[in-house]
Amino acid sequence: MLRSIPALAALCGLLLSASACSQQEVAKATFMPMGGIPFTIQAYDVSSATFDKAVTAIQAETERLESIFSFHRDDSELATLNREGQAKVSQELLRVIQVALMVSNSTDGAFDPTVGPLVGLWQHCADLGRVPTEEELESHKALVGFRQLLVNTAESKITLQKKNMTLDLGGVAKGFIADRAAETLKGLGVKRGIIDAGGNLALFNAVGEEPFRIGVRHPEKPNERFAVLTIDSGAVVTSGCYERFYDVDGKRYCHILDPRTGLPVGELLSATIVASEGAYADALATAVMVLGKDKGMQVINSLPDAKALLIWREGSELKYSISASLESKLELSAP
Ligand code: ADP
Ligand code: MG
Repeated sequence: MLRSIPALAALCGLLLSASACSQQEVAKATFMPMGGIPFTIQAYDVSSATFDKAVTAIQAETERLESIFSFHRDDSELATLNREGQAKVSQELLRVIQVALMVSNSTDGAFDPTVGPLVGLWQHCADLGRVPTEEELESHKALVGFRQLLVNTAESKITLQKKNMTLDLGGVAKGFIADRAAETLKGLGVKRGIIDAGGNLALFNAVGEEPFRIGVRHPEKPNERFAVLTIDSGAVVTSGCYERFYDVDGKRYCHILDPRTGLPVGELLSATIVASEGAYADALATAVMVLGKDKGMQVINSLPDAKALLIWREGSELKYSISASLESKLELSAP
């Protein structure tokens, strides 16, 4: 784990993922859960004893949540549900599935948590050094469909109606985990903090404090910033194809798939969503990557609690669009 306790937040604006302009002292720790995703905790004006306690509690809680949501671990609660096809589930799994389905419904299936068979197929084919065949795509697409995923809220029961259907919550769970970590900080009396779970930010601020200045990464240049958003609290989540992709014969295919075609998406370079709830913002960011720049912004504009910054390339130009209510909060970085 990388730690620096405490350092003055004089770094203001330098950090790529998140930073805040403040002369308050900030304690910072990074660990690498979930198969190596950088997870950073920042808390302002906190004693080192409280911060240590918070870091230990967040690590333990993140591990516990990983043992619920992991698609790859055979012993996770999700893996058990996928094997059995039906299960009474924890409140956490229920909530994440409910948010996932809400976003599936409002994006007409662009976000689909039942995309598991297609994700498995692309992974399998990439391991073999090839892309899936038409037949393979068709047979796996037939197993995908969020309308076959039934939720009985009163009994916390989930049913996968089709044989061999599998849920993959990789596009929604990290936002939930980031919110949980922020709750842990708040529960220990921290008034101002930032969680960054691999590009899924959860922010909370004390009354009267400066808002946070959040760096949005340049989608094509890993060490550069595209813009800064000034945000006071809530979730800021970015999805893109630049960090995780399938590599076949030196060609990169995005890890976000269009459930309707079974193919990797390609129009947007990145989608940043601002909303109150992490899981919701996370799922929407993935959905908008599938919907593309026009339909994606149209859907965001139709939702009450969501704003977006979308970035794409047109020839030699990098272009972006932003929700009207976010415009005054955006500062573009020098090209
Ligand atoms: P990251 O995990 O890199 O932050 P996302 O939040 O966009 O990115 O999630 C991508 C993951 O979501 C994929 O790795 C896969 O597990 C899953 N996924 C891919 N396509 C979809 C989709 N259309 N709907 C729901 N989940 C998806
Ligand atoms: Mg997502």
